[in-house]
Amino acid sequence: MTLPKTYADGNCPLARTLEVVGERWTLLIVRDAFYGVRRFGDFATQLGIPRAVLTNRLKSLVQEGVLTREEGGAGGIEYRLTDKGVALWPAVHALMNWGESFYSPNGVKRVLRHDLDGGLLDRDGRCRDCGSAVPVPEIRVEPGPGFQPTGTEVDPVSGAINTPRRLLEPIATAHNPG
Ligand SMILES: [Zn+2]
Repeated sequence: MTLPKTYADGNCPLARTLEVVGERWTLLIVRDAFYGVRRFGDFATQLGIPRAVLTNRLKSLVQEGVLTREEGGAGGIEYRLTDKGVALWPAVHALMNWGESFYSPNGVKRVLRHDLDGGLLDRDGRCRDCGSAVPVPEIRVEPGPGFQPTGTEVDPVSGAINTPRRLLEPIATAHNPG
């Protein structure tokens, strides 16, 4: 739900941010974009989101400059995070950590590592092995001990996301064989 324009604290940066990414589904779309999802159909498959809502959210993220909408290699339209979108990573990471702490009783669902040396990322996004603040394209995400695949028939998008991989690398699916 968009906050009313007359919101009392309209100058608050957090209120402004929530107008962009605070709607239901929006941060999940952004998260999937970090996981390499780029195609409308792949977002729809992975999130199970109503298509009209997905259309609306993608449009608003493009308008806000969080995503770009462009022709992909195979001719379809692709949505990709801009620098402004990638700058949301620390917020997405912090919310993921919070969820892992309080809503993941069986253990961490997704483990983040520095792909260059395999070091685990700490909560601030630093590599525990080399100590560097790991840039987003060098972060590898992989299923953790608390990860439980849902159902027996895993869709190809979820299958790709749940294979250890670097953030932002495009997933390979039927629509996107690269
Ligand atoms: Zn490292």
